[in-house]
Amino acid sequence: PFSGMERILIGLDADQCVAVTTTEGPVLVVAGPGSGKTRVLTHRVAYLIGSGRARPWQIVAVTFTNKAAREIRERLGGLLGTESAQLVQAGTFHSLCVRILRRDGYRIGLEPAFTIYDEEDQLALVKQALRDLGLDPQRFSPRMLLGRLSRAKNDQHSPSDLQSMAQSYWDEVAARVYERYAQYLQRAQAVDFDDLLLRTVELFTEYPDVLAHYQDRWRYLQVDEYQDTNRLQYQLVRQLASGHRNLCVVGDPDQSIYSWRQADIRNILEFQRDFPDATVIRLGRNYRSTPQIVAAADAVIRVNRQRIERPLWTENPPGPPIRLLACWDEQQEAEMVVSEIDRLVRTGNARYRDIAVLYRINAQSRSVEEALVRRQIPYQVIGGVRFYERKEIKDALALLRVLVNPRDWLSLRRVLSETAFGRGIGEKTLLQLEQWGQRQQCSPADVLLLLVEEREEAPALAAATVRRLRELGGELVRLRAAMVEHPASQLFDLALERSGLAARYRDASDPTERERWENLVQLRSVLERYDTVPAAEGLPLFLEEAALVAAIDEAEMSGDQVTLLTLHAAKGLEFPVVFLIGVEEGLLPHARALESEAELEEERRLFYVGITRAKERLYLSYCSSRNRFGLRERCLPSHFLDDLPPDVVEAGSRASERVPRVAPPAGGHAGPVESSAPVVPRLRAGQRVFHPAFGDGFVVAVREQAGDQEVTVQFKRHGTKTLLASLAKLVVE
Ligand code: ATP
Ligand code: MG
Repeated sequence: PFSGMERILIGLDADQCVAVTTTEGPVLVVAGPGSGKTRVLTHRVAYLIGSGRARPWQIVAVTFTNKAAREIRERLGGLLGTESAQLVQAGTFHSLCVRILRRDGYRIGLEPAFTIYDEEDQLALVKQALRDLGLDPQRFSPRMLLGRLSRAKNDQHSPSDLQSMAQSYWDEVAARVYERYAQYLQRAQAVDFDDLLLRTVELFTEYPDVLAHYQDRWRYLQVDEYQDTNRLQYQLVRQLASGHRNLCVVGDPDQSIYSWRQADIRNILEFQRDFPDATVIRLGRNYRSTPQIVAAADAVIRVNRQRIERPLWTENPPGPPIRLLACWDEQQEAEMVVSEIDRLVRTGNARYRDIAVLYRINAQSRSVEEALVRRQIPYQVIGGVRFYERKEIKDALALLRVLVNPRDWLSLRRVLSETAFGRGIGEKTLLQLEQWGQRQQCSPADVLLLLVEEREEAPALAAATVRRLRELGGELVRLRAAMVEHPASQLFDLALERSGLAARYRDASDPTERERWENLVQLRSVLERYDTVPAAEGLPLFLEEAALVAAIDEAEMSGDQVTLLTLHAAKGLEFPVVFLIGVEEGLLPHARALESEAELEEERRLFYVGITRAKERLYLSYCSSRNRFGLRERCLPSHFLDDLPPDVVEAGSRASERVPRVAPPAGGHAGPVESSAPVVPRLRAGQRVFHPAFGDGFVVAVREQAGDQEVTVQFKRHGTKTLLASLAKLVVE
């Protein structure tokens, strides 16, 4: 029997309470992992509403993922009731910008129906630009160019800025590609992810009255994971907050792991410069993890030099020690992880949903997946090919995009090349259509519509082609008309039928094609959520959602399954049991990051983020060899492991005793380890060996003894030891 306000403040400690109740003016919360930053943010929003200081729609909560936003809304729902929770503007920077641009983008030449392009679309545009310029995509990597464009946008540089700053031919090319690229986007009434931010900042800069509207509406701003915001995001925040200055940002500089996406650690320092009167709150108590895990994390991050020292402690009861798993190769690593998962679940120590397997790069998930499948353990992989990136889904989305935004010629082109709508329309016709459209200042889809209405002279094409184009235009016109009358899912059915996509996949006998059909059916079920309004209103909302979902948003947290995800995707999450695999030199830290101290520090932060996702049990595994790029490579344990305090790690733990006693067969697979018969290998000086507890080493000396060998081994991590070969269970590599 608590009052509403008590319920909001009850689960908070004194420092957290200050962060929640300091509602007026700028507030900066800098605090370590698991200290309740996200919790503070949620309770703050609840407090603002509960105390009557703000109405729900006056509050913005910016999160790093849509999933985090959804969770905040859910927790708010619990504290305040769902109705209020729905009215709070909670979402990512991108969704916030979409919202602004849909309403006011027309001021800067953006129609409300604009399309949002994903990375695949962006790459297609860059390639198109290169083709136009007569440049070879083999020589000028589209991906690298895209990275350059993204940086330019983040620095608010226009194509001509880039041109005038160019210092090499490559810069020159980047500037010219950028110019074309921007024209294409404008012509298609499309924006990429960077544009969402950039154009919003532009809008606010050029139209102070628009900015004033939002400043007036959104009275209280909160930003989570502030350490990973980029310059544009910070600028946006500053613009929105510049009137009332009720801005609360929470973050942890030690968890900044997105510098490759232009996240800028300077934002925290600048915040204090821009808001010198900001209340700075530090939270030091970790509520998430066991003391062992907190100690390990603290010892690891301490090694970084570019950081501000701060305390992190916990009063949680101790848990099991951190376990190191030394493995032969990734197959054995996967076996060990999965058999441990199996053991934990069988012994009632965890449910599948409590368990996460984290890794540095997506490719590492494969061996674990295979092992999970063998044991029939349910799992989900986050990342990989996103649902919305699948071919059939993109085809269907292209169809819908063209209906909503006929200027979107990139999508039209996809529709024509991938569906029956393109029958009888070749690449050449398409090109002519585009050129003709350009002269008329309209898109190819507009051209088709004009052709139907016979308002324009047809371009100089064969009569049959023109007829075919008119037919196609007719189809589009009919579908667009249907948009006004039918809900989105019905329109979807219609579009799939008319375009031949339905027939192609539904009636296929090939199982992979059938699977594509099932995906389309799944897409339809998402669309149904927008069925309460006609498609003309529902579709744009749906397309926006489809464009903005990130890999992590697709995570299913309700079922009972193991979750596999990258360290980057794991930010902000927590699991009772965490396996962090591939803790090896070259992988974590990644080989790419060995060039500079700054990059190495970011890798260490990544390791830190991984460790701090665990609540109770943490396993760190590494292999002595790994298949990379088709080659079997030798690996060494990551030197990050050297920083773990020995007293929180269980050496020679149960799992590592299960290291194979014989070298794996040439195939590389260690097989079921327990069953292999112990074989004592003959040892020679200079040989590389592996010991279940001491790990990798090499033989320094051998002394023959009656029927046995006394070997001296220099271990990489445990110094020199002399052992009896028959007992030492050494494995020769
Ligand atoms: P990260 O830096 O990893 O994002 P965070 O600082 O955002 O972490 P939260 O996720 O908010 O931390 O909190 C970590 C865990 O501790 C959550 O399970 C949360 O519910 C719990 N927690 C936070 N504060 C308290 C508290 N005062 N009492 C009990 N549990 C708490
Ligand atoms: Mg958090």
